[in-house]
Amino acid sequence: MLKLKNVSKFYHNNGVIAAGFSKVSIDFKIGEFVAIVGESGSGKSTLLNVISGLDSYEEGEMYINDEETSHYSESDFEEYRKKYVSNIFQNFNLVNSYTVYQNVELVLLLNGYKREEIKEKVLSIIDQVGLSKYKNTKASKLSGGQKQRVAIARALAKETPIIVCDEPTGNLDSRAAKGIIKLLSDISYNKLVIVVTHNISEIENLATRIVRMHDGKIVSDKKIKEIDNDIDVGTVSCKNIGLFNTIRLGFRNTFNIFSKFALMFSVFLFITVSLLSVYGSLKKSEYENSKNGNNYYFNDLSDTRIVIRKTDGSTINSDDLENIKKINNVENIAINDLLLDKYLWFQNENGDISFNATLNDISFLNKKISYGKMPEADNEVLIEVSEYDYYFNERLEDALSEIYYLNGDKSSFNLKVVGVVYSNDLLYSNSIIYGSSQLLNNYMKTVNREYSNVVINTNNKNYNSYNSIGDNFTIIPSDKVISGCSYVSENINYICSNYDCKNKSLNIMIDNLYYSDKLELKICNVYNDKNVNKLLDINKDNYQYGSIFINLDDYNSLFDKGVYQSSVFVNHVDNIDDVSNLLENMGYDTLQIRKTLNNDGSDAAQILKIIKLIIIIILVLTLFFISYFVIKLILKSRNIYFSTLRILGGSFKQVKRITDVELLINSSLAYFSYICLMILVSKGIFKITFISNILEYLKLKDYILMYIILVCMSYLISTRFASKIFSKSALKSYREDI
Ligand code: ADP
Ligand code: MG
Repeated sequence: MLKLKNVSKFYHNNGVIAAGFSKVSIDFKIGEFVAIVGESGSGKSTLLNVISGLDSYEEGEMYINDEETSHYSESDFEEYRKKYVSNIFQNFNLVNSYTVYQNVELVLLLNGYKREEIKEKVLSIIDQVGLSKYKNTKASKLSGGQKQRVAIARALAKETPIIVCDEPTGNLDSRAAKGIIKLLSDISYNKLVIVVTHNISEIENLATRIVRMHDGKIVSDKKIKEIDNDIDVGTVSCKNIGLFNTIRLGFRNTFNIFSKFALMFSVFLFITVSLLSVYGSLKKSEYENSKNGNNYYFNDLSDTRIVIRKTDGSTINSDDLENIKKINNVENIAINDLLLDKYLWFQNENGDISFNATLNDISFLNKKISYGKMPEADNEVLIEVSEYDYYFNERLEDALSEIYYLNGDKSSFNLKVVGVVYSNDLLYSNSIIYGSSQLLNNYMKTVNREYSNVVINTNNKNYNSYNSIGDNFTIIPSDKVISGCSYVSENINYICSNYDCKNKSLNIMIDNLYYSDKLELKICNVYNDKNVNKLLDINKDNYQYGSIFINLDDYNSLFDKGVYQSSVFVNHVDNIDDVSNLLENMGYDTLQIRKTLNNDGSDAAQILKIIKLIIIIILVLTLFFISYFVIKLILKSRNIYFSTLRILGGSFKQVKRITDVELLINSSLAYFSYICLMILVSKGIFKITFISNILEYLKLKDYILMYIILVCMSYLISTRFASKIFSKSALKSYREDI
């Protein structure tokens, strides 16, 4: 069934042509147990390699089942090897990290056997070579004789009609050698077994034929036992490994050498961590640069803030607020948003505790109270101060028992601090006062008054609240004054010449950004140091000459006309455009504070940005290639494994797929471990600053992109690796690795 006719094999070495063997003619039959003997260098191995299809021949013709092979291409020979030939080598060529069972199973997996067929078959073959006791032992733990038995079992599992053995006993002691030769002889009853040896005595009495070689030629060919039933053998049914078995092998290879797994896992983890970190911090610094702008009009520059106004100029009522709250991603609404941008002076009676502060609604508090309790009454407030304010900390007990005023106005806002929140992110050592909505509404009237142009008309003359005479006046509400009346100081001489102005008319006209109004009043009383307490219930030290007191309802009719402008806060800056658009559709003019910032867009800043980007790109590429080469090195250390796969008949595609699976499992494991770690950090279970710092800057699409990069990288590496293994002939890559 196998026939050589005048076959020669030449080697070319540096221009010198040497013959491996020349003009060899011989034919073999199934059932023969052939011994090829001869001294070293006589061409035995070369002949075996040609017969195995591992090496090409230059002259003559080799027939398999009467088919010519001289025209065979490399891939035809792969097919030939897979169908007809199993090899057994002197050095066993097993996968050392696999068990006996797995080594034998590997062949069946590669040949596309189904899971359920495999087990019984593998066990019976292992039994046939006498290794049942060792089926779960790793190949590396076996003796030489046992290893060669595994190699024979593997050849049997491959079910090829031809088994060629090159010095199978070369590494064995004589007892083990005897056992192996006996085993080979036993299995030759329905196969062609060719054994090369230089020790004829061990095989003489079992071989059916002894071929002697000398100097590249067959010098004798002695048939000891005639085999006449030359059957053309059926070939192995050449199926390919299925997807399921590819994945099984991939899994096995991922974990079977722990140190290799750990190393590769670390490299993939390293790439994931560094790429995500670099990208995250790039986004972070970009974001922080965008926040570094400034603005003349607003103090609260939150990037989530949208200032709104009704397009038709009307007030924003409670129904409007309800509707805005229903919008997705709206976190909060500052109804009196002017307060966000207005600093006020907050101090106790004797002025030894004082803060520059903004007044916020208590619903904006998003931190835990450090000391005291939440405000309950309208005159109670909570104060957020810097945790580094040592002076305040020392006086904490006093601070909580005193009365405080806003802007030194002792007549209207008497507040108590009931709670303290310490903060480490307050800018410019400013503080925040949190109070009830009612307190904010009340204070808002004062702000409206300050932001309005206030003019009084008396004695047929107009006076601006900041007038050229220098006697500035302020309108103050009082429940002691009846509606339609005003009380003025007898010392304001442009109103009250000669301290006498009772019953004169005093009209107030105001206008501001949103509305104008007018109030006609009579001066019902004049006050001075002596009567101020009796008339207005104000301590004589606590009033100012410029105060014009009017009835509370009259005052409210001027300065409490409803809300014209508010601020909507979204939960994340990414949603701000959507919310803005919705608000515009609902009839509001919107202004995103982040868009009002003046950024430093100078050329120098631009160039710096580009340089930074280039450095990061170089860094990322370097990282990527370092990792790439480390993984290739790790794979290279397993070249033996891959060339063994090839000798067993694995094709390029199969080897590549198995490597694909292995790399994919490994990179996915590394990737998802890191994702889990990130989730734990985001939930606060672990505290790892460098992760939590970048978390909020990474979006779903970044994570997906990262995974795609890992998958592509795995794919790239396995493709390159497999092509490298298959770029050389099977024999060459095998020789190089042992
Ligand atoms: P054996 O196995 O009988 O010891 P080989 O088949 O290995 O002998 O070698 C036969 C001849 O071919 C020897 O002269 C050897 O030098 C030569 N040869 C074998 N392999 C190569 C090779 N890869 N390149 C060049 N010459 C080789
Ligand atoms: Mg040899």
